[in-house]
Amino acid sequence: MSVKVTKVACQSCGANLSLDESIRFVTCGYCSAQLEIVHDRSTIHSKILNEVIKRQDAVEQELRILRLEKKIQRLESEWENFRQRVCSKDRQGNLVEPNRYSPAIMGVCAWTLGLIIIVASGPNEQWLGLIIGLAILIVSYFVTRHGIRRAKEFAAMRSRYLHKRTQLKNELSSVERRLRFSPMKRSGKPGRRGRPHP
Ligand SMILES: [Zn+2]
Repeated sequence: MSVKVTKVACQSCGANLSLDESIRFVTCGYCSAQLEIVHDRSTIHSKILNEVIKRQDAVEQELRILRLEKKIQRLESEWENFRQRVCSKDRQGNLVEPNRYSPAIMGVCAWTLGLIIIVASGPNEQWLGLIIGLAILIVSYFVTRHGIRRAKEFAAMRSRYLHKRTQLKNELSSVERRLRFSPMKRSGKPGRRGRPHP
């Protein structure tokens, strides 16, 4: 079997390389560029391998961007669903997030009412009034405590959500930045090392 030799120009420095036809990858002896030898139907030419790798890398980064965008979307819609479940609605239908002020204010009002009833009923020995006043104190204590705890849990969930979202967004913008500045053009350095061109 005879070995066919072909001549291919180095895509990086232009040197003529004589190669065994079966070779697919070669390092240019003149400029050390890593080349892929591409056999088209009519021509044979070389491709700088770094560029191929760079292009693959760019494709991978694009996929990463898509995945990150999907992740952010999912996170946002999960949070919105959670809000719809947990929040109450005002008269206009806007969501009202649980906060610790409304239960605290309501608690103070209920406690004041309970105390007034107790103070008014005590000296006259109106037992029913005393019992009602005490009941208001006890019930409002637990309702207020529950409301405040719910607000705290909601705030913790929200800060977790925001933290996660910021993390994903930062990751996304760093990948986008890298992709935008990655030099897709051929690297121009010939690196000839003083060797003559044939
Ligand atoms: Zn070369």
